[in-house]
Amino acid sequence: MIIKDLGEFGLIDRIKSTVSAPSKVTGIGDDCAIIPQKKGFDTLVSCDMLVEGVHFLKNDIPPYRLGWKSAAVNISDIAAMGGKPFGTFLSVSLPGDLEVNWMDEFMNGFNDCSNRYGVVLLGGDTTSSKNGICINVTVLGNCASGTSKLRSDAKVGDLICVTGNLGDSAGGLKVILQNAERSESGLKLIERHYMPMPRVTEGLSLSRESGVHAMMDISDGIASDIRHILKASGVSAEIDIDKIPISSELRAVWPQEAVRLAVSGGEDYELLFSVSQECEKGLEIPHSVIGKIIERSDKLILWRGSEEEFHGFEHF
Ligand code: ADP
Ligand code: MG
Repeated sequence: MIIKDLGEFGLIDRIKSTVSAPSKVTGIGDDCAIIPQKKGFDTLVSCDMLVEGVHFLKNDIPPYRLGWKSAAVNISDIAAMGGKPFGTFLSVSLPGDLEVNWMDEFMNGFNDCSNRYGVVLLGGDTTSSKNGICINVTVLGNCASGTSKLRSDAKVGDLICVTGNLGDSAGGLKVILQNAERSESGLKLIERHYMPMPRVTEGLSLSRESGVHAMMDISDGIASDIRHILKASGVSAEIDIDKIPISSELRAVWPQEAVRLAVSGGEDYELLFSVSQECEKGLEIPHSVIGKIIERSDKLILWRGSEEEFHGFEHF
């Protein structure tokens, strides 16, 4: 058997089966690990890696934007728990012939994004690379004890909601890869792809609502990500394709594929959450209701308004 046979999530399950987290600590399986502290708060920790050729093409992405994105995708995992991010560790593996200016620009983007969210770089590691650039960021955050939102708490009858629009990032990537016309809308999609804005304020607001049950960020596309909530919570979902929020830019640039990009495309870093019907009415943050949590049936997801089955991104 090779890694490809297991797939990304099969491999993570296999790794998970070799360890057990200490009691009271939430380990592998959510957007962050949760480590309870003594004085009424929990520490949240997560890490995410960006690999040249897998997550980005060096000649396509300006280093400033890669720096921004490296910070943003990590901060987003703290937002996904309803936490407040405060620090990062940055590990880089770089070819010796890389221009110093490239790294300076990378740091400008990394720090601009971090500053925007009140996050500061606290350490890291640096090594040479024989094969391309690899960036790994660890992010730390915190939240009041027991208030973080897990993937495993969705309840039958909950409404399924998302913040923002979906598919813009995938639409922007498609403009880049297909060298399509960079219209005003096309450029906006590219910006959404390179410079995601993690939903920290929204996550904090949702964390204060006891009626918000499960939450995660959308990194691999909702078709893939919602499965994590459904599997962890032992429930199924009905998703109404017509209610998926799609921007006018995505519809303008990719009219035929807007829906598929919105459902299957990754890297929007919006929040996906389940909330009781009563609580949803009073939510203060802008959001769209896209479906409902139902009892577990043989199908994990019933796609209303489409004959198609949708799948998100998975490595291998
Ligand atoms: P996210 O998309 O939110 O970053 P992932 O799908 O990458 O989450 O990871 C799912 C869970 O598996 C997380 O809790 C993560 O910490 C854990 N995980 C992923 N890869 C590994 C690994 N190599 N070793 C231990 N835990 C891992
Ligand atoms: Mg996540």
